[in-house]
Amino acid sequence: MKKKTNLGLATHCVHAGDTLDEHGAVFTPLYNFSTFGFPDTQSVLDVVEGRVEGSLYTRYGLNPTIQAVEKKLAAIEGGEAAWIFSSGMAAETATFLARCKSGDHIICFGDVYGGTYELLDTCLPNLGITTTFMLGSEINQLSDSIKSNTRIVFFETLTNPNMEVLDIAAIVTIAKKHDVLVVVDNTFATPVNLNPLALGVDLVVHSTTKYLGGHSDLTGGVVIGSKELLKPIWHWRKNLGQVMAPEVAHLLARSLRTLVVRVNAHNASAQILAERLIEHPRIIKVNYPGLPDSVGHNIAKRQMNGFSGMVSFVIDGSTQETADLVDRLKLFTIAPSLGSVESLVTQPIITTHHNLTSAERTKRGIVDSMIRISVGLEDVEDLWDDLEQALK
Ligand code: PLP
Repeated sequence: MKKKTNLGLATHCVHAGDTLDEHGAVFTPLYNFSTFGFPDTQSVLDVVEGRVEGSLYTRYGLNPTIQAVEKKLAAIEGGEAAWIFSSGMAAETATFLARCKSGDHIICFGDVYGGTYELLDTCLPNLGITTTFMLGSEINQLSDSIKSNTRIVFFETLTNPNMEVLDIAAIVTIAKKHDVLVVVDNTFATPVNLNPLALGVDLVVHSTTKYLGGHSDLTGGVVIGSKELLKPIWHWRKNLGQVMAPEVAHLLARSLRTLVVRVNAHNASAQILAERLIEHPRIIKVNYPGLPDSVGHNIAKRQMNGFSGMVSFVIDGSTQETADLVDRLKLFTIAPSLGSVESLVTQPIITTHHNLTSAERTKRGIVDSMIRISVGLEDVEDLWDDLEQALK
């Protein structure tokens, strides 16, 4: 049979990076070893000096299980290569440290995960790397905010927790004019719904803890892009010792095989719930790009293939009433994560955005009565019944 070269995303999810081993294992087995042996000194040197691609030492990422899932992730996001990390925050940290030095500047655009905010706002300034935080609505001021020492414009492709959709092509055009790298966090959107590299973004990071892992049973991260841009990040990962463990990489590879079916099902149920939530009398606002009246709907329609499984909404009620509503939910587990087969619920002010000052939260519309749900793969009617009884 003639091999097709332009394979689809679901095919990459199942096959990319995997070859049958000598036993015919249908995908790359778990090589749970810290080091790998060589027949002679020349063979070691060939791998150490990069002439031959091979296994060497797991902390370097030179482990067959790790290398296989990295090839799969690169194919899924359409990048040349990928490096996997022990967490999403590890991937972000290595990326910022590899691309910025003391005296450099980052622009963080729109809402971001609270941990990312803390890294940029309080950790990196200790190393002389400063960040200007801008609202997603301030795109007209982006060009003027880029300084001669700005190295990166960073944003989430679907923002946490407001589900804002930023115009990626427009941001890329501005950043390129100033020769600044565009790095995005594609965790909420996933590669099924959005391909930032195809829109001109330089590097894509993910918390693989979320949709890519998909089962709340692993913690990891990845950065994907061109080999040239990734090269310095590899050295930071190696020397900070941030690589993902092989057991976790194997679990991630297993999960990626079902990514497309899972995300399409998350999208479909989230759309149904968002449409019903917006009609509910106790709800003031629903943030979901699949709703025709949502702020980012037109941009989302243009740049996305689907609208994700994440929904946030604001209820007409006090902080206590919001907590009571969350506590009444039975099928949604209260947990500060997302992207898993089971539905999860969180109040951003209690968890993901707890470390922001109340002034910062107010500026970003992260109000006390906001609830964020990660719509799982349960029957959607059961999820709706649960939300309805909690809203009563
Ligand atoms: N990016 C986003 C959008 C997140 O929601 C999170 C965690 O919740 C992270 C990054 C950090 O990921 P991790 O917890 O895997 O370090």
